[in-house]
Amino acid sequence: MTRVLVINSGSSSLKLQIIDTAVEAELAWALVERIGDPVGTLAVRRGDLAGSPGEESTVEAAFPDHTAALSRVLEEAGRLGAHPTDLGVEAIGHRVVHGGPDFHEPVEVTPEVEAGIERLELLAPLHNPANLRGIRVARDLLPGLPHVAVFDTGFFHTLPAAAHTYAIDRAVAKAWDLRRYGFHGTSHEFVSRRTAEVLGRPYDEVNQIVLHLGNGASASAIAGGRAVDTSMGLTPLEGLVMGTRPGDLDPGLIIHLIRDRGMSPEDVSTLLNRRSGLEGLARARDFRELLARVDDGDRDAALAYEVVVHRLRRYIGGYWAVLGDVDAITFTAGVGENVARLRADVLSTLGGWGVELDPQANEDGTGERIISRAGGRVAVLVVPTDEELAIARACDTVLGLGR
Ligand code: ADP
Repeated sequence: MTRVLVINSGSSSLKLQIIDTAVEAELAWALVERIGDPVGTLAVRRGDLAGSPGEESTVEAAFPDHTAALSRVLEEAGRLGAHPTDLGVEAIGHRVVHGGPDFHEPVEVTPEVEAGIERLELLAPLHNPANLRGIRVARDLLPGLPHVAVFDTGFFHTLPAAAHTYAIDRAVAKAWDLRRYGFHGTSHEFVSRRTAEVLGRPYDEVNQIVLHLGNGASASAIAGGRAVDTSMGLTPLEGLVMGTRPGDLDPGLIIHLIRDRGMSPEDVSTLLNRRSGLEGLARARDFRELLARVDDGDRDAALAYEVVVHRLRRYIGGYWAVLGDVDAITFTAGVGENVARLRADVLSTLGGWGVELDPQANEDGTGERIISRAGGRVAVLVVPTDEELAIARACDTVLGLGR
């Protein structure tokens, strides 16, 4: 029996799960949001080995920093009998967004690894510092446990050079490690493996396109278990339209804003990370709100939805050409798993390519399932992602636990 605490530490949030990797059950779950704000929220829930949610505790209070947030989580978890020590946690797994050119596989966190993650802050200033904070705070408050870093970029280290190379001066790219790295790799790997299992086929024989559509969104092309293209690049800004990020745009637009319109690089960063995507196009906080506004006849929301659909079609078509042949298209994450209408609209032009949805399976089913018509040439699936479980399993493997 191995029990792993999985931590996903963001700049103003902290998400934790305790997972028993033998039965793959969630024994405890916690989320702190708005760390650093005058009032933040905290929720801690106990689970059990059967996977049913148990008692929950919620708190509204100020959490000035991640140390305060984790201390309070541990206190509340203790009251619910779900403190990591009480539950026999043996290791802590961390989601680390950028692994850069050096980290391809999950690794135990040593001082050298920590220094490496810190160096990569230059490539991921919005993510890696927060991930590192999670590692350090957990080490302080839960001493004596091994830590494993699992990199969001890892699965994409197999991208062929043609897919990961930016067509800029080679010397400039080389000097600063400027290339496409890809993100959400833990999810793309988990979901693509699961897709092959659901289809009852060997992973290395399936050509697939995975669409991870959450607040952040990314697509990948996976040929026989090897990632051959993905939509995010040097940073998680490239690719699909997201909650607050634009995805692909002409880099000339950025030059124009800075050189001709007087915006500072910081202003542009805020524009592209916080005021674009659904937020920028329609002032929609998330996809649910966007859909409600589309149904109310809001034109900005309707346009935003059309841009989302159009971009997804372009990626699917492009990846189809890269793969040559596609066996499966899988939707995952909050939007991908829950929005039947989007799945149907995106795929509606692909009937001639052998993609045909079963409307009932698409609209009425829940959870993991095949949503294409039986006997169709291309399988379409919904597979809920579980990055925390994948991180917990990686801890087992790296540390040789659970044997
Ligand atoms: P992340 O992990 O990137 O924060 P999630 O995978 O949780 O994102 O997805 C969040 C997105 O999923 C939000 O845009 C949210 O509105 C959307 N979403 C979740 N459930 C539903 C639903 N039932 N209907 C429509 N959208 C949903």
